[in-house]
Amino acid sequence: MKRVLNFSAGPGVMPEPVLERAAAEMLDWGGRGLSVMEMSHRSDEFIGIAARAEAGLRTLMGIPANYRVLFLQGGATLQFAMVPMNLRAPGAGADYLETGQWSKKAIEEARKSGPVNVVASAAGSRFTCIPPRDTWACDPSASYLHYTSNETIGGVQFHHVPDAGGVPLVCDMSSDILSRPIDVSRFGVIYAGAQKNIGPAGLTVVVVREDLLGRAPASTPAMLDYAVQASSESMYNTPPTWAIYIAGLVFDWLRDLGGLDEMARRNAAKAGLLYELLDATEFYRCPVATGERSLMNIPFTLRDAKLDDRFLQEAEAAGLQQLKGHRSVGGMRASLYNAMPQAGVEALVAFMRDFERRNG
Ligand SMILES: *Cc1c(COP(=O)(O)O)cnc(C)c1O
Repeated sequence: MKRVLNFSAGPGVMPEPVLERAAAEMLDWGGRGLSVMEMSHRSDEFIGIAARAEAGLRTLMGIPANYRVLFLQGGATLQFAMVPMNLRAPGAGADYLETGQWSKKAIEEARKSGPVNVVASAAGSRFTCIPPRDTWACDPSASYLHYTSNETIGGVQFHHVPDAGGVPLVCDMSSDILSRPIDVSRFGVIYAGAQKNIGPAGLTVVVVREDLLGRAPASTPAMLDYAVQASSESMYNTPPTWAIYIAGLVFDWLRDLGGLDEMARRNAAKAGLLYELLDATEFYRCPVATGERSLMNIPFTLRDAKLDDRFLQEAEAAGLQQLKGHRSVGGMRASLYNAMPQAGVEALVAFMRDFERRNG
């Protein structure tokens, strides 16, 4: 068996020990003679698996007791609709910061159900920076302020939690959740599709402050109502059982390697290797403002775009896969999620140095 180095933006690389454990437990989980996939979600076994996954996430992120953890479906994209449905008061507006393709999509979706105020946009910089906080035109009566902590496509990341000015702060954390410690008490809602930094696609994690539950209008479909999901322990219908189980294994893996402080240290070291190379040469270039560069998704271009195809072909042949940039940005993108080992980034950097030597 040979595993490639997978730099995909999502679904992304998984920790090998998690895949191995899942493989070992595939046919017979815990001596029960069946796979987790085949268990009733109402069984004691599965309820235990889900409870352990939730406890694991709570410990890792330090989630306070007045927050609920929901295991939902529909991806971060469904949260673009659910957040306004659940939090926007009748007649009130919602504030959104526009820093890239994902916040843009969240804005478009929120506009369908009510007023949206874009407090600031980085569109003018082609989404290569974060508009300074003192330029944001926030509405103090907004139901919430929404931002995207890491723009997966543009490679722009917040390295601090922004000041929400007294309204609940809502964050799409899909591509950097669990990459570093975060003060959950600063947020009203945090949500993330699992397939970047948590586990398999099909699971969406929502962390919501309790006082924000129960605000959705009565006409809201049950599946889309945070309060319904919270009161049924995320089991209003059949939850994504397999994905929840795997996520629980990922949480155990993170705990065993030292938690989010250690993960943050590793992620900074990994991204540092690649940025060091990008900044040391004219051959490669990263378009993102220095202080706002993502440690998770690193877009870069070659000075000569005619070499792009050769770069990708040779990288692929060397076992470095999924490096093609998003079509809206072009060039390359290396996603360095938690499960990408340092040796993987070292291999990428060595390949890039060699490619430059041969083509520069
Ligand atoms: C991938 C991604 C999404 C979309 O996630 P889905 O789970 O596919 O709906 C939204 N926001 C960010 C920041 C992402 O990286």
